[in-house]
Amino acid sequence: MTEIERHSYDVVVIGAGGAGLRAAIEARLQGKRTAIISKSLFGKAHTVMAEGGAAAAMGNVNPNDNWQVHFRDTMRGGKFLNNWRMAELHAKEAPDRVWELEHWGALFDRTKDGKISQRNFGGHEYPRLAHVGDRTGLELIRTAQQKIVALQQQDHAETGDYESNLKVWAETTVTRLLLDGERICGAFAYVRETGRFVVFEAPAVVLATGGIGKAFKVTSNSWEYTGDGHSLALLAGATLLNMEFVQFHPTGMVWPPSVKGILVTESVRGDRGVLKNSDGERFMFDYIPEVFKSQYATSPEEGDRWYDDPDNNRRPPELLPRDEVARAINSEVKAGRGSPHGGVFLTVVDRMPGGAAEIVRRLPSMHHQFKELADVDITTEPMEVGPTCHYVMGGVEVDPDTAAALVPGLFAAGEVAGGMHGSNRLGGNSLTDLLVFGRRAGLGASEYVDALDARPAVPETEVEAATAEALAPFERENGENPYAVHAELQQTMNELVGIIRKEEELEQALETLGKIRERVANVSVEPVAVNDGRGYHPGWHLALDLRNMLIVSEAIARAALERQESRGGHTRDDYPQMSPDWRKVNLVCRLAGDPDSPRVELRRQPMEPMRPDLIGLFETDELKKYLTAEELPGGAGAGA
Ligand code: FAD
Repeated sequence: MTEIERHSYDVVVIGAGGAGLRAAIEARLQGKRTAIISKSLFGKAHTVMAEGGAAAAMGNVNPNDNWQVHFRDTMRGGKFLNNWRMAELHAKEAPDRVWELEHWGALFDRTKDGKISQRNFGGHEYPRLAHVGDRTGLELIRTAQQKIVALQQQDHAETGDYESNLKVWAETTVTRLLLDGERICGAFAYVRETGRFVVFEAPAVVLATGGIGKAFKVTSNSWEYTGDGHSLALLAGATLLNMEFVQFHPTGMVWPPSVKGILVTESVRGDRGVLKNSDGERFMFDYIPEVFKSQYATSPEEGDRWYDDPDNNRRPPELLPRDEVARAINSEVKAGRGSPHGGVFLTVVDRMPGGAAEIVRRLPSMHHQFKELADVDITTEPMEVGPTCHYVMGGVEVDPDTAAALVPGLFAAGEVAGGMHGSNRLGGNSLTDLLVFGRRAGLGASEYVDALDARPAVPETEVEAATAEALAPFERENGENPYAVHAELQQTMNELVGIIRKEEELEQALETLGKIRERVANVSVEPVAVNDGRGYHPGWHLALDLRNMLIVSEAIARAALERQESRGGHTRDDYPQMSPDWRKVNLVCRLAGDPDSPRVELRRQPMEPMRPDLIGLFETDELKKYLTAEELPGGAGAGA
């Protein structure tokens, strides 16, 4: 019989990035026995990799900034498909979450008068990103971990046990959420080092598992981002929202091949970097879309003046939202004006008043990254960059105020949750999203536990099914190699569901994914020599991750086929326009059919109309670009 360890908590948080840590801190502050489970080492999460900063309308650098301006920018960036209540909560609460981090010990860069410094970023009207050089995510995680240690020390003083109320389970991967009837009762996991199984009994689970990038071949994401939380939620009966929206960051490294996809932070453009094609032209001036025409400079001279005098000039188009810049780069490369390795040039050479020293001071990680990985000195040479799969806007459908998913006891926050960023996320809005909704998820889960009459119990059948599923790759003989199946999945998603999509290719993708599904069901691995054959077994781990990547890939491809318009992170070659009618539609995925081989099913769900006071923050002329005539203030037509 397979040995299984059991532990009981009030709240289990899956994921130790910014969202998971903030949720766990909150649950513990609410007096709940809390576990943090992390597939990677504690401290290794996407959040650590975040470079640019955390967007919060603190108004430190430009006092005209406030939550209303931030809300407007976020809605514009998401092309009005955002869950407006989430965008409102985010814009209002982000400054408090940043100040809270500072209070807990985060050391942000400062302005000359000693306030938290804020930098420019694409789509943000004012300098808004609180930052620590280009290592902001690292400071966020360091601070949250420090807070966790402080809480554990407090618990030790009271109970004699550091882990009595808050325990970290590092290198532990959840493969199933457990259900008692229709509500959550825990999670099933394996420990990487030994391969042993653990059942976490808990009435509330917070998903904070981050993104899905490893379903694509070229990505800025690292090995953990296999869509686990998205898939776990679907398998437990929850729904995903708008999965067609995948952000391709415009600037990933394109050379050498071993580092293709690694991120080149947007701070490079925020700090005066410009994009050029092989003819030496600043081509972004040719790609300003109609909806943004009035807000962006029309000449390089005006764009350059904006850095020093933003009140009297418009921003350069290098700082358009990411989807616009990524598509422009794609078009330049397709038109034969790309760089030698299939990207374009991004340069800061001669762009900063303080010369090379200022480049190194402002962009230390980028300077180091290019020197070490590509032997390029960014103080004297341009970087070669191109689009890379970076972030998923689609995610678990949640209640904006409590982060509750549709399954009782399940909560989601951070990149795994959907809605907040609409069709396209603005840079810097993720780090504050993690803090705002991580806190709300921890609170929501705690309040849910408090309101329970009786705790759910974990049915043995659930544990047996999860155990059998996890062991299945060892039971099959001479099956498929998980690495080969993964490579085909990534290639399919990159080529057929990538930055520019069309009907025939999406249909072809779904057909190929159908064949890949059969191969995933037949993946097999051999036991290793230690720990019952399961200790540190990357082939087995990938075999289990494949189920998740396949499910999210199918969700993305189906939703991309269904949405017949182009908006944000979803560009249809055959439907190039944005449609006001489609703006009123959320595409909701759930799993249906045979539980052993479930299929993604799609439903169109009407968007809830925006509250009048929030609509009132926009000019009618701007709203006309996004909304149908009936949605405009004053009803049909409104002078249209
Ligand atoms: P993550 O930080 O991704 O953490 C996910 C956690 O879940 C990890 O601990 C992982 O191990 C765990 N996990 C996953 N699956 C399982 C499982 N099955 N079982 C147990 N644990 C699991 N955003 C900004 O706002 N500003 C920036 O400057 C910025 N820069 C970025 C730079 C890079 C290179 C990248 C990749 C992203 C950047 N982003 C930025 C985006 C932002 O960093 C992420 O969206 C954000 O950090 C996601 O945080 P999270 O807490 O949701 O998840």
